[in-house]
This record gives sequence, structure tokens and C-alpha cells, in this order.
Amino acid sequence: MELMLYDTYERALRPFVALQSGAAGLYACGPTVYDYAHIGNLRTYLFGDVLRRVLALNGYAVRHVICVTDVGHLTSDADTGEDKMEKGSRRTSKSAWDIAAFYTRAFQQDIADLNILAPAVWAHATEHIQEQIDFIAGIERKGFSYRTEDGIYFDTQKLERYGHLARLKIEGLQSGHRVELRDKRSPTDFALWKFSGDAQRQMEWDSPWGRGFPGWHIECSAMSTRYLGALFDIHIGGEDHIPVHHTNEIAQHEACHAHPPARYWLHGAFLKVDGGDKMSKSAGEFLRLATLSERGVDPLAYRYLVLSAHYRSPLTFSWAALDAAQTALNRLRLAYHRLPEGGQPDAHYQQALQAELNQDLNTPRALALMWELLKSDVSEAAQKATLRWLDEVLGLGLAAWTPALPAVPGEVQAMVTARDLARQEKRWADADTLRLSIEDAGYTVRDTPAGTSIQPH
Ligand code: AMP
Ligand code: ZN
Repeated sequence: MELMLYDTYERALRPFVALQSGAAGLYACGPTVYDYAHIGNLRTYLFGDVLRRVLALNGYAVRHVICVTDVGHLTSDADTGEDKMEKGSRRTSKSAWDIAAFYTRAFQQDIADLNILAPAVWAHATEHIQEQIDFIAGIERKGFSYRTEDGIYFDTQKLERYGHLARLKIEGLQSGHRVELRDKRSPTDFALWKFSGDAQRQMEWDSPWGRGFPGWHIECSAMSTRYLGALFDIHIGGEDHIPVHHTNEIAQHEACHAHPPARYWLHGAFLKVDGGDKMSKSAGEFLRLATLSERGVDPLAYRYLVLSAHYRSPLTFSWAALDAAQTALNRLRLAYHRLPEGGQPDAHYQQALQAELNQDLNTPRALALMWELLKSDVSEAAQKATLRWLDEVLGLGLAAWTPALPAVPGEVQAMVTARDLARQEKRWADADTLRLSIEDAGYTVRDTPAGTSIQPH
């Protein structure tokens, strides 16, 4: 069955063809670790996780790399302002290194709580400074860089296809609005290396050009090449990365290798807040996964909510929608646990579910079909086996969940003990009477080798 993915670069649905049969390289731009991730950021990683699991369903061994931006991301995407890490350090009075470690761990915990599979590699920008310097040196050798007072910049005018990913209208940008050029040659030019200058920085390194730190985009070019090669299969991120970050990654790569780094570019739509704005770290209040847990919502209910929208459609967060997702997840968990074991997945439903998932990860349609399966005349044991198979992709952890049994009232527990004793002593009539009383109290009775087992009706 063909796997169709929407490629932003081509603006088209394309059948996925891997570079190497049976394997897929997947690179995801990760968090900037100067603060906690909000649930909008996490939506983007949930999309990556579904993609990874759908690739696996289609038989690909996936090599998943997520980067951790722990230096060089400035408060403005246009290479101005302060390094977010240094700013975070002032906010918290901890060192930039400490907050990087702290928020990386917090992020990895969120990832685990959402049942997002850990990547093969967590690639930290600060651990790959030499690779970044080498990459910049390569760009310099090809004649695509120039020096200004505050750094080494990429000369975007030298690249004919600059901005193709975002369909940037370069002329409009150049003459249209007033952009602060400082000593850049063109508004779209971006920093490869910035000099520390007089600034007091905690994170800085020596380089052939002077002491400083890498620009934001070079880390992904250097680390994706290191872990996945100069050409790999799929590059992903949130939709905000299309016009700047991914556009510039492509430019850097084209300067060195004459082709973009990846063959498919996929982008997840934003989580919005009521009123239509995107949820963002820099703009005031944001919701963390922990905030949901504090309100009694299971992180996996958020996963369910995210799965219920297509990854390319905006999703507006509301507590009502999250509550509905929690209710649906509860129903699904109970349904799964009530179904009997011992069946095989139903081939018809497997085929239909995979067809939906292979159509650019259509998780809302797959969920709808899943509920249809539970109402269908497929045998109950086959329903359970099909659900288990599907959950390899949905990642809702159905098999791992166990119902929290309501506490059994003392008098019922006493009857269970009395019945076990009666059975040991072969007082069958007493045992039967006690069975009826337990059933009258609202429990189903089963005899097991370990004794009487009861479950609420
Ligand atoms: P950052 O930590 O700001 O570098 O962002 C990490 C990832 O989250 C990036 O891939 C962004 O595109 C993505 N992102 C940021 N805001 C949102 C949002 N409101 N909804 C979905 N993804 C987002
Ligand atoms: Zn990146």
C-alpha cells in the first residue's frame, strides 16, 4: 500500500519512496530549551511521533533525530535581539548551561508522558560546535558568506532558488517594507556565526572568525548531516519554520551540496488559543502538560485530542474539547479491557485503517473507523486484536492501562472470604448462597485457581 505524504517543498501529496529500501531517516527540529515546552510545541512532536509510527507500520526502520537548541536562537528570528538561553539565564538566575539541562529534562519527561517514542539521537547544538564551524567553513569556501561587524552572514542573493520552500517573494521583501539591514547586504541574509563582541556571554567558543556562537540555522544543517547523511528522507517541524528556519537550512545545504538536505518536508499546523492566536512561549501565559495533569487530565487525553484533528489543520485548544477527549479515551480504554483475548486482527479493518493513515496521516478518519469497528459484527476477540494493532500507531497505551477498581465494600469482601473458606471446606451449598449474595450486591463472580474473583457488573 502506498504511503502518501504532503510535501511542503512541492506543495503536493507525494508517494513516499525511501532513499534506502526499508529504512527512513527523520529529522525534527526540537525545542529551544530556555523554558518549558507548551502544549502547542508538543502538538508538533506528536505529529512527528505519528509519522514515525506510520512509517514503521509501513515496514520502515526509522532513524529519528530530534535536535535540542541550547544556544544561538535569538529573541527575533531575524538574528537580532538576545540569545534566548542567556535571557532565560537572567530570568531564572541560573547559568545558561543549567537551564538548558533542566528544560531538556522537563521536555523529555513531557515526551515520555505523551507516549512519544524517544528518538535514536537527541542532538544538542552545544555538543556539535566543531561540526557547525566545519559547515560554515564549507559555505565560506563555496563563496556564499561575508563578514560584517557582528558576524559571518549567508549571502542569500547568491542562491538562485533561495526561498523556494516558502515561495518567498524576494523582490517584495527587498523593496517592500523597511527592514533594518544594519550591515547585511539583503534582508533575507542570516547569521552563520555571531561574534560575542563586548557582550558578556556564558556560551561562546573560538572559531576561525573570532570568538562567538553559531547562528540558529547552522546547528540543524550540521547535525542532520552528521546523523543522517548529506541527503536524508524527511525533515519536519512546525509550520512557523517554513519561511525562515527551514528556508535557511536549505540555503546552507544547497551552498555546500547543491541540493536540499531532505527529500520530503512536512510541517505541522499550530495549536491556537481561543481568539485565533497561536500558543507561544514568548507571548505570556501558556499551558504546559503539567498544567493539564494538575487539573486531573491524563496527558494521553491530550494525545487523543491532537489525534482527532489532522496535523495540517489548525486546532484550537479548549477545556471542553479536552474533556471530551478524556471521556472518549476513558470509553475506549474500558471497551478495550472488556473485550476478550485470543483473536487475530481483522484484515478488512486493518486494510481500511492503514489506508486512512497512509493518506497523509489521517488520524481523525482512523479514529472514526476505530469506533465503527467497535460497533461492527467483527468478533469481539478480533476487535481487541485489531485495536491492539492500531494502537501501535495511535500510541494511546491501551494495553498498558489497567482499570482502577473501585474499592470493594467491606461486607462484600467479607462474603468473598467466607465463600473461599466454604469452597475449601467443600460446603458447596454455602458457597452457592454466598455467590448469590455477592451477585445481588452488584458483582460478577468467577472461580479462579487463586480463589473467588469479582468484578462490578
Ligand atoms: P521552539 O521551542 O520555540 O523552538 O519550538 C519548538 C517546536 O514547536 C517548533 O517545531 C515549532 O514550530 C513548534 N511550535 C511552536 N509553537 C507552536 C504552536 N502553537 N503549535 C504547534 N507547534 C508549535
Ligand atoms: Zn532545525
